[in-house]
Amino acid sequence: MLTVSLRCQCHGAACTGCGMSSSRIHGIDERQIHDLACHGFRVCLHANVRRFRCANLAFDRQTFAAPLSLAMPYQRRSQRLQKVHAQVGLALSGLPSARLLRHQNCVCKKAGYKTAA
Ligand SMILES: [Zn+2]
Repeated sequence: MLTVSLRCQCHGAACTGCGMSSSRIHGIDERQIHDLACHGFRVCLHANVRRFRCANLAFDRQTFAAPLSLAMPYQRRSQRLQKVHAQVGLALSGLPSARLLRHQNCVCKKAGYKTAA
């Protein structure tokens, strides 16, 4: 497995709840996202994403993570890998697609989302 470490360097982001921009850093989230295989090796992206504090007191959500362009929030697969899974699943369906994706090292089971606060 290839592990690639990414670090978000954004200085601010728009709140995902109310849209208000914030640059008050609350902490760092570590996201593990699986990506397309590279030369037969599975690829796992370890992304450190900044979490910001929302200044809007009217909303319940107090913190939010900066968005990543390669995966939606809470998504464990990159959008590229998600697209390949959908295309292979539609073309082959069920078990054959699972076998092919496993053979191509395009499966993800242990990726997740951790909060380091
Ligand atoms: Zn907000």
